Amino acid sequence: MQLTEAVKNCNGCGACVVACKLVCVKMEGPLEGRTKKTPHKNEDGCNKCNACVLYCPLYNPVTMPEFRDFYEFKEEFENRDMPDLYRQTMRSVKAGQYTEFIGTLCEIAALKSLMGDKFRPNLKVYPLYCDEEKRAKDPACQVCMFYKDEK
Ligand code: SF4
Ligand code: SF4
Ligand code: SF4
Repeated sequence: MQLTEAVKNCNGCGACVVACKLVCVKMEGPLEGRTKKTPHKNEDGCNKCNACVLYCPLYNPVTMPEFRDFYEFKEEFENRDMPDLYRQTMRSVKAGQYTEFIGTLCEIAALKSLMGDKFRPNLKVYPLYCDEEKRAKDPACQVCMFYKDEK
């Protein structure tokens, strides 16, 4: 089952992949008409705990920090393995290390949701403007609650 059936306008942030402790959610695609991968749920191993939906920042919105300065989107931020990056970031923060995370607002919302809607002081978050080319083609981006226009 595509999780996009359960979460309207899924933006492919990948928080649900990390939320599933039974490793039933995987990012696939992009599906036709999308520019980002979206989550697919393997029903066989699923115990129906619903964590994948509960940690989705579109389903359970988080309080977003106010950002003033945004960084330009660059090629190096394309096609990153976001679930793995969220895991690494959380591990490092939990270990008490100074940690930096750079991402679009939907990715920052995903990380914050996975951290229980709290950012610890040893985590520094840098926001990125979105890839405008991809954004223009993706229906989820068109209705995005996080989007900030590049000035
Ligand atoms: S957590 Fe992100 S990828 Fe998963 S369903 Fe929600 S918006 Fe989509
Ligand atoms: S309902 Fe629970 S076990 Fe099933 S995919 Fe979602 S998080 Fe994983
Ligand atoms: S518009 Fe930007 S922040 Fe919103 S879903 Fe698309 S990439 Fe993420």
